[in-house]
Amino acid sequence: MTNVVLFGPPGAGKGTQAEFLKEKYQLVHISTGDVFRYNIKNATELGVLAKSYIDKGQLVPDEVTINMLNAEVDKNAAAKGFIFDGFPRTEAQAEALAKLLESKNTEVSGMVALEVDDEVLVERLLERGKTSGRADDADESIIRNRIKVYYAETAILKGFYEKQDKYHGINGVGSIPEITERISTVINTLL
Ligand code: AMP
Repeated sequence: MTNVVLFGPPGAGKGTQAEFLKEKYQLVHISTGDVFRYNIKNATELGVLAKSYIDKGQLVPDEVTINMLNAEVDKNAAAKGFIFDGFPRTEAQAEALAKLLESKNTEVSGMVALEVDDEVLVERLLERGKTSGRADDADESIIRNRIKVYYAETAILKGFYEKQDKYHGINGVGSIPEITERISTVINTLL
């Protein structure tokens, strides 16, 4: 299996790139943010809980997120591999992912990180907020809080995967096809 963690701060372009990469490599794309939004839309118990965190730009608690991710992976037993988008976001999540994949006799093949300056992120998210309908894209202070949470809780995962020689940083500024190409150069070495 090829299991790619697509990494980067909010607005780095993970979701956009995953849409192209899942077709190109025939991998199952799991975006924890999308699964939460689906649950919010359908007013499930999980959705109601997640919304109280997401709307403030905070992380949904690990236990809830990890259980949900495990269920998503289990739904796709025949997958050739996965693109994880927006997961893991904490060290506990990274450890849970390693354990889950180990139980399936596989592992994270590599982390591809999209590197983009903070002010570009804020600009992109405010622009996206005009059409995304996402409460967490609509307000600059919430956007800045999401970026702050990224540095406080998530950025540490760079070191987690570097220690395993699995970290690959990519310049996340450029045209969409240019960035797909940069990511593909890395994924091609992981197949
Ligand atoms: P995203 O679509 O990846 O930008 O995620 C939107 C929001 O969903 C985040 O700001 C968090 O509130 C929540 N979320 C998504 N993925 C995770 C995760 N792995 N851990 C905790 N919260 C998450």
